Amino acid sequence: IDNDKKTNRSGLAERDQAVIWHPFTQMQTAPPPIPIVRGEGTLLYTEDGNAYIDAVSSWWVNIHGHSHPYIAEKVFQQFQTLEHVIFAGFTHQPAVQLAERLLPLLPTNQQKVFYSDNGSTAVEVALKMAFQYWHNLGKPRRKVIALDGAYHGDTFGAMAVSGRSAFTAPFVPFLFDVEYIPAPVPGQEQVALERLQALLSDDVAAFIVEPLVQGSGGMVMYQPAILDELMGLARRCGALVIADEVMTGFGRTGKLFASYHLREQPDLICLSKGLTGGTMALGVTTCTKEIYDAFRSDDKFKTLFHGHSFTANPLACTAALASLDLLLSDETQAAIQRIGQRHAVFAEQLKQKPGARNVRRQGTILAFDLDAGDASRSYFNTIRDQAYEFLLEQGVLMRPLGNVLYILPPYCITDEQLDTVYAAIENLLKHLR
Ligand code: PLP
Repeated sequence: IDNDKKTNRSGLAERDQAVIWHPFTQMQTAPPPIPIVRGEGTLLYTEDGNAYIDAVSSWWVNIHGHSHPYIAEKVFQQFQTLEHVIFAGFTHQPAVQLAERLLPLLPTNQQKVFYSDNGSTAVEVALKMAFQYWHNLGKPRRKVIALDGAYHGDTFGAMAVSGRSAFTAPFVPFLFDVEYIPAPVPGQEQVALERLQALLSDDVAAFIVEPLVQGSGGMVMYQPAILDELMGLARRCGALVIADEVMTGFGRTGKLFASYHLREQPDLICLSKGLTGGTMALGVTTCTKEIYDAFRSDDKFKTLFHGHSFTANPLACTAALASLDLLLSDETQAAIQRIGQRHAVFAEQLKQKPGARNVRRQGTILAFDLDAGDASRSYFNTIRDQAYEFLLEQGVLMRPLGNVLYILPPYCITDEQLDTVYAAIENLLKHLR
């Protein structure tokens, strides 16, 4: 165990604690934050030059690793030309070019791009588009159907359509009504389908789903066939289908988008995280022509009254264009397949190990449940904290979701680094026995 890894020579952790309130962090009990001074590729360096392997791409965002020189160069050039401009009444090259390049990569029914700032706002925009679509048609609908355990973000609309949990508990009185169906994991498909059938009515504005993999809900995975059935059913009953690809987009599931695994096409798609290679805050909501047309009118009240100060920030759009260049390269496409294959081999080994249950994989995402008896059931379990700390001591950054452990690495991760991550997991399993 290399305790030097967490070195805080400059006192930055104390200064941080004096002035900063961190996300998803119980500030009373959480250990001090670890100062990171530099990121390069898969590695995050501390003040002493020790490094952590970022096995989860930070918050699932840095698909090309950290501080990629190509993205950095493009953003620097853009900064010297146009760093920002109001996006109502004005436009710019990076925003137009990004929309022109993104749309042909998405399901063919996607026709328009609306920019925002992150995954939560991409979901907010999709929900507002869905509700106002029906409003503008003169047939208002009030309900949304979501999946148990879903996570779509932390803003109010995104919270409303997320599963109910400790994250949403204080806010429940302020969230609009949402009906839930079970996540259609193997064995639950029929129940999910029947429940959706029972809930669909002409008051359902939208059905929202994280295609193929439910992220924060615990890397819960379901098959494309059942998703096609659910989406097809929802669409036949008139509900708009929102695919939240904030986590699954940009190669994560082994294909460019999770939607590529499906026959059904969603009406709205939400993107963020890997969109800029995890380098800048940017969200995108795309929609069909039918939805867009419901907002085009001589009636000004049919306008989508939504926007943010930093909508379509030119630096973020430029980072997204550079990230797309890298993502579409043969090298990255091969890396995505290589990581998937390596995960598949390790998954088979994990299945033999006591302490690892429900081993699952989709593309570059590998997940399993830590089996530590009753202690592993609660989100606030000590096993989670122990695992997190133990892995850090092994030089690997992973953030278990309750008792769910997962790898979601940058595509530039080397075979040697993957081996280190796998070995750290094996050590953890031995340690917890
Ligand atoms: N949707 C999904 C599927 C996510 O995984 C997340 C974040 O984890 C979000 C939305 C929210 O994105 P952000 O954290 O950028 O607001």
